Amino acid sequence: MMEPRRIPFNAPYFTGREFDYVQEAIKNGHFSGDGPFTHRCERLLEEMLGAPRVLLTTSCTHALEMAALLLDIAPGDEVIVPAFTFVSTANAFVLRGARPVFADVRPDTLNLDERQLERLIGPRTRAIVPVHYAGIGCEMDRILELAEPRGIAVVEDNAHGLLGRYAGRPLGAYGRLATQSFHETKNFSCGEGGALVLNDPTLVERAEIMREKGTDRARFFRGAVDKYTWVDLGSSYVPSDVLAAFLYAQLEAADEIQGARHRIWDRYHAELKPWATKHGVQQPLVPADREQAYHLYYLVLPSAGARAQLIAHLHSRGVHSVFHYLPLNTSPMGQQLGGEPGGCPVAEDVADRLVRLPLFNALDSDSQARVVAAVLEFDPDPYA
Ligand SMILES: *Cc1c(COP(=O)(O)O)cnc(C)c1O
Repeated sequence: MMEPRRIPFNAPYFTGREFDYVQEAIKNGHFSGDGPFTHRCERLLEEMLGAPRVLLTTSCTHALEMAALLLDIAPGDEVIVPAFTFVSTANAFVLRGARPVFADVRPDTLNLDERQLERLIGPRTRAIVPVHYAGIGCEMDRILELAEPRGIAVVEDNAHGLLGRYAGRPLGAYGRLATQSFHETKNFSCGEGGALVLNDPTLVERAEIMREKGTDRARFFRGAVDKYTWVDLGSSYVPSDVLAAFLYAQLEAADEIQGARHRIWDRYHAELKPWATKHGVQQPLVPADREQAYHLYYLVLPSAGARAQLIAHLHSRGVHSVFHYLPLNTSPMGQQLGGEPGGCPVAEDVADRLVRLPLFNALDSDSQARVVAAVLEFDPDPYA
């Protein structure tokens, strides 16, 4: 008998138009950045986000580094980040000398727990970096209410959240700055890529300079100066127009891509509900005032043992599932920077029990049925 095909955790997606656009970019003879496709992507993202200016970058990590540069983050500054996130959320600010202050997450949405902020904000706090985990918005009204009167900048790490909404407004439209990722694992991708969202128009000109190696090259191309020169700090954050061409094909297909992910997410949620309820497995919560971005589907098992057994069980059924994030406060680098085991009990507990199921644009109905059937076969109770 033939082995059933293995179901990967993630698979890159092609709309089919990527090759045409890449070919067009090559024919344009503009291989470097800031060509026609870069501008088309930026205009589309500005529309999606209602943002005055979006700059395409080489990654979300680099967009976060640009945010730290733009805010003049310096040694001695503190930046509040959730403990349950990817390392770049913190690392981009640590590179400028800041100390990360790790906030625990809410047990219901796994988002930065805004109820911790008053305790964590101090005289050196310069920024708060909420992450809209799984593409479900943080409590932005409360976060802004605490940050704004104190002159603390809010930078949304919106790597998961493009096209999600909180109280009717797009995620990524709330912070002074926001960052997007177009890594292969995200909803829209060009392999490696990102964007910096500038909701504060006063930061635009300096952002253009920092993105262009600290030069006023953008001003030069607009004809505002007759030569360009070194005027500020900066680095090389501009992606090639060939990558932007690839990305444009995906951003243009946003409705189709989000529609597919929405269907997959809803099916997991509905078909696993009775099993989850019976065994005390936590499913994602989407509060009523939020529209989510359908970035990932997770389950929180009753114990670390049950999580390990479920991953092994799914593996035996040809299904690849994974877990993340190792809490930043307990990581070797996080501890070197003052993080402590036990400092973020919810993040540390959830990190041991969470599993992510395959969710990618091209996951077909039969494959998803196999994933669901394999989960339903599993009884977490003996491991609790
Ligand atoms: C993927 C991710 C990043 C990093 O994105 P890159 O584009 O790979 O740099 C940062 N933050 C979060 C929350 C992410 O999920």
